[in-house]
Amino acid sequence: MKYVYLTVDIEEWYDLDYLRKYKCDKSVEVIPEIIDFLDLLDECHIRATFFALADIVERNTDILREIVRRGHAIGCHGYDHELLYKKDTNQFIYEALKAKEMISEAANYNVTGYRAACFSMERDKLDALSNAGFQYDSSYIRFEQHPLYRNIDLTGYEKVDDLVYRRDGFFEYEIPTLRMGNYSLPISGGGYLRLFPFWMLRLLINAYVKQHHNFLVYLHPFELTGVDLPFPKDVTWKEKIRASVGKRGNIKKIEKLIKLLKSMGTQFRTLDQDVKERVNQWKKAS
Ligand SMILES: [Zn+2]
Repeated sequence: MKYVYLTVDIEEWYDLDYLRKYKCDKSVEVIPEIIDFLDLLDECHIRATFFALADIVERNTDILREIVRRGHAIGCHGYDHELLYKKDTNQFIYEALKAKEMISEAANYNVTGYRAACFSMERDKLDALSNAGFQYDSSYIRFEQHPLYRNIDLTGYEKVDDLVYRRDGFFEYEIPTLRMGNYSLPISGGGYLRLFPFWMLRLLINAYVKQHHNFLVYLHPFELTGVDLPFPKDVTWKEKIRASVGKRGNIKKIEKLIKLLKSMGTQFRTLDQDVKERVNQWKKAS
């Protein structure tokens, strides 16, 4: 394998799409608790990309600046955590630019990347991002079985590398899945990463490297801390399991995963760094 892009969507536990409809105890926060994870990244000499939700920046300026101080990249995870399908393009881009400004200012970082809530990107919105000065997006996932995820139409984009697509100077990064027959198994993050025991994850990664040579991982703060989530009483057992399965010991599993990927000779890169290098290459070649 060649490159691994480790990404984190910085949102609170109550921003999960299936918990948003409940009245959650917002006094319990997980974002300030990701320091142990940042220490792990330092120990492994890894730089990651953190997509922040604009909603959280006011309460989390310190942690955002700490992330930047440690050399990681910051991107935008939107203004709120609404699905993009529910907004028209004008509203979307107005909010995306407002969010970009809020996050850039709070983190003291020039934000140029975007990831849509629940990967709900659409082509007209992607074009709007590119026209508005964003440099990349990472919301493309091929996972047909999931009711929330749709494919973005990438007509006119050139596949420049495994998981990487370019149109002029704008890049799209695909969230990798493992193809098994007609199914796509999203082994690169979320509940799936928590659910599978490490031995199984290793098997799946070994199958994955036969299909791919780049990898992207996506994580959330609530998966990176030991904080017990105060679920509201009316949450269903299914939702509770979905949010808490494999949470305990997950950071150890991520450490093992990082070591496994490193042992395959991969280089961990932030998406900002990757875009910069690819733009330079492209300009040299043209
Ligand atoms: Zn999210």
